Amino acid sequence: MFTSPLAEQLAPDLLERFLRYVRVDTQSARDRTQSPSTRGQLDLGRMLADELRAIGLADAALDENGYVVATLPATVEDAPAIGLIAHVDTSPDAPGAGVEPIVHRGYDGGVIELPRGGTRVGPHPSAAGHDIVTSSGDTLLGADDKAGVAEIMAAVAYLAGHPGLPRPTLRICFTPDEEIGQGPALFDVERFGAAGAYTLDGSSLGELQDETFSAAEVTVTIDGVDAHPGWAYGTLVNATRLAGEIVARLPADLTPERTRGREGFIHVYELAGSAGRSVIRAIVRDFDDDKLHAHAELLRRTAEEVVAAAPGARVAVGVEPQYPNMRRFIERFPHVVTAAERALRAEGIEPVRKPIRGGTDGAQLSAMGLPTPNLFTGGHDYHSPREWASLPEMAAAAATVVRLAEVWTQAEFRAAALGAAPLPR
Ligand SMILES: [Zn+2]
Repeated sequence: MFTSPLAEQLAPDLLERFLRYVRVDTQSARDRTQSPSTRGQLDLGRMLADELRAIGLADAALDENGYVVATLPATVEDAPAIGLIAHVDTSPDAPGAGVEPIVHRGYDGGVIELPRGGTRVGPHPSAAGHDIVTSSGDTLLGADDKAGVAEIMAAVAYLAGHPGLPRPTLRICFTPDEEIGQGPALFDVERFGAAGAYTLDGSSLGELQDETFSAAEVTVTIDGVDAHPGWAYGTLVNATRLAGEIVARLPADLTPERTRGREGFIHVYELAGSAGRSVIRAIVRDFDDDKLHAHAELLRRTAEEVVAAAPGARVAVGVEPQYPNMRRFIERFPHVVTAAERALRAEGIEPVRKPIRGGTDGAQLSAMGLPTPNLFTGGHDYHSPREWASLPEMAAAAATVVRLAEVWTQAEFRAAALGAAPLPR
């Protein structure tokens, strides 16, 4: 069931920490006016800083913006500082208060009826025989991303307790408000001082991600001419009808429900308005920046054509970049990905390299100069009461972190990082 004796050894401490962390309500809230957006995140941050100090990371501290930062000093010289990052908040999209985790020992892979909310988990035959953790059914579990937090904590505790093992300086950061896209907002890359970092915020065993969507938001505002419908003849120009026509003209196969793999899309997620003014909100996504641009332009052109045929109406189109595909920032530092591959294989796991049809904190951090691919956590079905986590997979992630520390003390990785230049290819 476990990927290695090391993973099995880490599992009890990891599970204890995970069950403790998920009980703290750290749900973030959109449209924040301060960091973090909710106080519960500070409660968990304080707990983590205390536990890090108890492990022996003397500088562990929670800052005023809700970031926990700590250092585990190196045991070998000339190794670069490497970052380990996870987020403390949980999604605003499912209930997050009062999480009561349930451990299902030796899960049979079938359907589990949870005690509350009529929630059913499974079947998940690939996890048959695993100990798994779920919520009680009326909340999310919060494995996203407390699995990542607990894995980093368990790995760091193990390394701190085994000073004979080779390791570089490890810089730990637990961030707030990832789920509302603000995790990197107040992240001080300079002060963090790492040559590369890893978020533990993925899902299935072996995932190693260095590519995300490029993302933008498009807002189309249509101003019509309102008039009393009783004597609107020849006067009324209905903005809502124009909005409907624009949406109807967009290609039906360029939508999230008709695309997968490396295909991008235009997703109209909100349509609101009146005869006088209507607003279409859409997100555009693609792995290719030129195609992303083309999706946004298609929406703009369609809106302008429809409105041009309706004298008296006006249209304004705004395109707001959201996050960039992280690959073009990470590919300048290929050793950061290579080190993760080597650590996974040392744990007996074949790396699973597939692009993320979404974003991750690492995308913005990589653009800010800290190359940060994403690793799996063993949590699944995020942002829902059906969320669950596999203990053997979580333990595999923690063990991978321990092995990653060793990999970064190997001569070729030390050289690549300290040279602050990419490895020759
Ligand atoms: Zn997450």
